[in-house]
Amino acid sequence: MPYEGEFASYRPLHRITGAARVKALLGRSRVFTASAGEIEPTPTGAPATDVAAPEFVIAIDGSTAEVDVVNGYPGAKVGYCTVASVLLNLKLVELLDQSRPIDPVKFRQTEEPSTIDAALPGSNVVTRDHISARDSFREALYEIFHDEIIDEDDQTRLLDTYEELLALKPLTNPPACPYESVGCDRNFPIPARLTSCPCDKRRAVYSTDALRVHERFRETGSNGEAFGEVMQVWERVLLLHLLRCFERRGWLAQLTRFAFMVDGPLALFGHPAWLSAAISSELKRINSRLRAETGRDLLLLGIEKSGTFVEHFAMIDQTERPGELLFQPRDYFMPTDKYIKRRVVYSASEKRYGLDTYFGRKVFYKTTSGARIVFNTPFLSDAQDTLESSDESLYSQLPVSCSLLDKMVSSRYQNAVSPIVSAHAYAAIPLSLGSKVLQQLARALMRDGAANGR
Ligand SMILES: [Zn+2]
Repeated sequence: MPYEGEFASYRPLHRITGAARVKALLGRSRVFTASAGEIEPTPTGAPATDVAAPEFVIAIDGSTAEVDVVNGYPGAKVGYCTVASVLLNLKLVELLDQSRPIDPVKFRQTEEPSTIDAALPGSNVVTRDHISARDSFREALYEIFHDEIIDEDDQTRLLDTYEELLALKPLTNPPACPYESVGCDRNFPIPARLTSCPCDKRRAVYSTDALRVHERFRETGSNGEAFGEVMQVWERVLLLHLLRCFERRGWLAQLTRFAFMVDGPLALFGHPAWLSAAISSELKRINSRLRAETGRDLLLLGIEKSGTFVEHFAMIDQTERPGELLFQPRDYFMPTDKYIKRRVVYSASEKRYGLDTYFGRKVFYKTTSGARIVFNTPFLSDAQDTLESSDESLYSQLPVSCSLLDKMVSSRYQNAVSPIVSAHAYAAIPLSLGSKVLQQLARALMRDGAANGR
C-alpha cells in the first residue's frame, strides 16, 4: 500500500486514466447515450397560486470545521460545529428592497445573529477518565443535545425532541454495544437518556449512541465525516424541535405564516439514516393537525446547493441549439423514481430511490430570474410519499414553494437561495434565532398580528 497521498503525487492523473486497467474497467461500464424511447425531462409551468405567501422564513444551516490542537499527542484534532438559524421577515425585506441601496450596517443593527456551536473531541483528544477519544466524542455528542435549550422560556431540551424521534425507531436489528471495539459482544436497543451497558462492565450508554456516528470515528486521522453526520442530525432535529415548539405553544395555525428552509436534501445519510423515517412520520403527524386546523400544508424546503442533481439540472437545461435553454422561467420538473434511476443515479434495483434516507422528493425549478434551484419538498402525507407520479396536484405546497423561491433567490450568488446564504454567512438580517428564539418569534407575531388586526 502506498502512503496516503503518495500515489497522487507520484503519478499524474491523466496517466492513471490512460492506464490499461482503468480503460478496461471503463470498457465494461455503462455509458449513457440519448436514444429513442429514453425517458426525457418534461418541464412544466408552475401553477399559479392564490395562497398567501409566508411572512417569515426560518432558515437552518450548519457548518463544521476540524482544527488541529496541541495537547502533547500527535495529530490531535477537535471538531467545531455551528448551527446558524435565521429568522427573516419578508415584509421588512420588501420594505428595504424598495429603499435600495440598503445600508448593511443599519440592517444588521437590529440584533446580532446568534448561533449555537459546540466543540467535539476528534482524534487523540481524550477527556476526563474516558478510555478513548471515541468515548469522549460519544459523551460530548450527548451533552450537545442534553445541554441545548433553544428557548429560555420553554425549557425543552433538544434531547427531548431527539428522544421522541428515537422512540419511533423500530426495535428490530438492535445495534452493537458502543463498546464493541473494546470487547463487549452485546446487541441491544439504545434507551433514552444516560443508561449503562447490560454486561458486567456497566459502562455508560447515551441515547445519542443510537445514531451510531461513533462507528465512523477514527482514533487517528481526520473525523470530518463523523462531524458532518453530527451536523446533518443537529440541523434536522432542530427543525423538528422548532415545529414541536409551535405545537406545544398552541401556535400551530401560525405555521401558515412561516416557511422553513434547511440546507441540503430532506434526508439523512449514513448511520443516522433511521432518523429519516422517524422525522417523516412526525412531519406527517404535525401536518395532519395543521391541515385540520387551517386547511393548509406546511411549507418546508430543503435546498441543494451542490451535488449530482444540481449538476444534472445544469446539464439537461442545455439544448442542442446553443443559447436555447430547456427550462423557461417558472418551469419546474419533479423527477420520478424511473427518471432518477435511468438518468441521474443509475440503478436497476426495484427499491425506491432514497427509500431509507429521504423524507421528501426532488424538484428542479427555474425562478423568474432564471436561476436553477434544486429543492426538496417533504412528504406531508402518505399520498405524497411517492416517486411514481409527477402530478403536482398531490403537492399543494408546490406552487407556494416556487413563488417563494422567486422572491428568495439571491442576486448576489448565482443559483443560491438568500436565507440559506444568510444563515451560512451571518449576513445582514433583521431578526435572529438563538437562545430566545421563541420569545423573538412571539414578539414578531404579536407586533405583526396587532398591525394586521389578527
Ligand atoms: Zn457492554
